[in-house]
Amino acid sequence: MGARIPYGLLAVALLTSAGCRRAAEPAGPVKQSSLAMGTVVSVSVPAAGAADLRKAMAVARNTLLDLEETLSVYKPASEISRLNRAAGRHSVGLSPSTYEVLRAAKQYGELTSGAFDVTVSPLVALWGFRSGQPTAAPVSAGEVQAVLKQVGGEHLILGQRTAYLDREGLSVDLGGIAKGYAVDVVCQRLSAAGIGNVMVDLGGNIRCLGQAEAGRPWRVGVRNPFRRDAILGILQLTGDESVATSGNYERFVVIEGRRYSHIIDPHTGYPARGVAGVTVIASSATAADAAATGLFVLGLERGPAALRGMQRFVKGCAWVPDREPLEIHVTDGFARYFTPLAETAGRVVVLPPPAARQPPAGL
Ligand code: FAD
Ligand code: MG
Repeated sequence: MGARIPYGLLAVALLTSAGCRRAAEPAGPVKQSSLAMGTVVSVSVPAAGAADLRKAMAVARNTLLDLEETLSVYKPASEISRLNRAAGRHSVGLSPSTYEVLRAAKQYGELTSGAFDVTVSPLVALWGFRSGQPTAAPVSAGEVQAVLKQVGGEHLILGQRTAYLDREGLSVDLGGIAKGYAVDVVCQRLSAAGIGNVMVDLGGNIRCLGQAEAGRPWRVGVRNPFRRDAILGILQLTGDESVATSGNYERFVVIEGRRYSHIIDPHTGYPARGVAGVTVIASSATAADAAATGLFVLGLERGPAALRGMQRFVKGCAWVPDREPLEIHVTDGFARYFTPLAETAGRVVVLPPPAARQPPAGL
């Protein structure tokens, strides 16, 4: 039977628990958690701002519950579910937030040459990730080819605050971008409410504003994809930074002894292989979420070159190939934020900057 791992926190964990603190250090940030969008949402503020925590958590929960009602494929009355039911028949009017997520999804589809594609939904269902009982039976090549005909970002047509899927059977799944978008909306609202030092973490989609304490950055651990409760190192984030990780170790199916990730290559129709985890640092949580999913599909072979087109949004990226011994391939932008542990430092490879676009021959 397919092994379903309960959906827990993805790859990054906040490291200021009592266990990580020396006695003389000031108290670390304080945190509250809750459930939203099928995962855990945590809000952390500096100890000095603990009085803000309840208000910050209430803003986060209310925002996420509202957005879940419009963006979730798990909710039949959501705008996304209505869009999917109208596929091949008519366009659907959208609220500003749903329109903005779809616009960003198409943008990352173009930036990743279709590796990020929210119309991948029929394939996500084919591999059993929607039913809650991941398929245990192998999926035949014929089934994949048949469903591939119902996938392709070019079939998602955006109008003036409307969207249309131009073929029956097409459907959209925002699992790879909407949590990042939701974190951005929460952070905008917290800023507007005067809360300027805060970390919001929704299932591993994280945005940090300001500092964890006076003069101290937010510290975020990057999960070791091969060892459940171990990290590869720490990211130090201050100001306004976002980070997201896509991995094959939280949601997967095991079919005939082989593990398949929940991230599907829209070009082949099969779960992407070759990478265990990708972590992206970006200027927004939306960008980090979508880029991490797309760069997971592109892998180490095609991912670094794709970063060239994302430099306005993406500040750094790390790939952990799905092979042992451990390798951590980081861009120099990522290396600026990342401090590996002593035991992983020797596994870090800094990638050369993406070569400037080669001028066409003969110039
Ligand atoms: P990422 O790594 O960011 O992306 C992988 C996910 O994106 C896949 O799970 C799939 O949904 C989709 N995807 C796969 N391949 C691609 C691709 N090539 N391009 C683009 N997208 C791709 N889960 C539940 O179990 N119960 C719920 O009630 C529930 N409600 C949700 C409500 C909302 C609004 C959202 C956005 C998600 C919800 N989820 C729910 C799903 C869950 O929260 C996560 O979104 C999902 O497990 C993937 O999270 P991730 O960050 O690991 O995905
Ligand atoms: Mg994502």
